Amino acid sequence: AAKRRARGTTARFDASMREEISERLRLADELVGAAARGELRLYLQPIIDLDNNRLKAFEALVRWEHPLHGLVPPGVFIPLAEDSGIIGEIGTWVLRESARWAAQIHPGVYLSVNLSTRQLEDPLIGETVRQALEDFEVPPGRLTLEITESVLLDGQAEQLARLEALRATGARISLDDFGTGYSSLSYLQDLPLDVLKLDMSFAARLIDGDDPHASTIIRTVASLAKGLGLDFVVEGIETTDQLARLRALGCPLGQGYLFAKPLPANEAVVFASAGRPGAGVQQQAA
Ligand code: C2E
Ligand code: MG
Ligand code: MG
Ligand code: MG
Repeated sequence: AAKRRARGTTARFDASMREEISERLRLADELVGAAARGELRLYLQPIIDLDNNRLKAFEALVRWEHPLHGLVPPGVFIPLAEDSGIIGEIGTWVLRESARWAAQIHPGVYLSVNLSTRQLEDPLIGETVRQALEDFEVPPGRLTLEITESVLLDGQAEQLARLEALRATGARISLDDFGTGYSSLSYLQDLPLDVLKLDMSFAARLIDGDDPHASTIIRTVASLAKGLGLDFVVEGIETTDQLARLRALGCPLGQGYLFAKPLPANEAVVFASAGRPGAGVQQQAA
């Protein structure tokens, strides 16, 4: 009986997996040309200076407004775009749209754009970035490109060279989701970096009170970043207690739902308005 039950389970599992795979294929199909059809939406999430609660930057986070399913999160469609080779089209749209919106936001506010490892395989990526900055008259130093550690897993030398080329445009490079996956301290020596973003799993350990191990790790990484001359952003700040702990641990910059969820670009402009960095943040985060 156990065997039959196990077999039955397997059959149901296979059927649902088949469904999931065909749903993924359908979505991947529909994603082709989504940028050209105007189905992509640029969302911007504030990154806050924890010393004074001022707006320091926005991170661009893309969403896909599917005609039937509504807003599809990037965690779902970015991997599809990477697998089907259309990440370049989407990535270029995000870069150009971010540069376009930058003009509407106080020049003291930085813009951060996520780059997929696949995009770093494109020999023209440096030119795409340079062109976007030029077309919308954004000073290169205002743009930060967020990459993840997987950059170095495949490609190695070539992708490292491409990263150097990207940085040569004047854009800054940020290492995203630091501390997870295959992250290694050697990346801090090998990669040309300007910013370190601590994965939100670390801050999450401070939500229900103090976690001594997490606190030690965060304090030490914050000090490591400072010693290396890197900006340091903690992701996933959701509560005021967590924020107070992170401040006490010496974290200079933060991002999270406590300050704001990712906002449609036009709402982000309102958030940043009054013509100076930091406007609109005070009441929420004081
Ligand atoms: P990420 O770059 O690490 O972005 C941070 C993610 O954490 C975002 O999810 C953001 O909405 C979420 N987040 C921010 N604050 C909080 C918080 O306080 N609590 C919680 N639970 N979550 C928070 P999102 O927008 O769903 O994006 C997921 C991932 O998709 C991003 O992770 C990034 O890896 C990728 N992604 C998003 N936009 C792009 C893009 O334009 N290009 C590429 N290549 N990847 C993108
Ligand atoms: Mg990011
Ligand atoms: Mg991240
Ligand atoms: Mg991530």
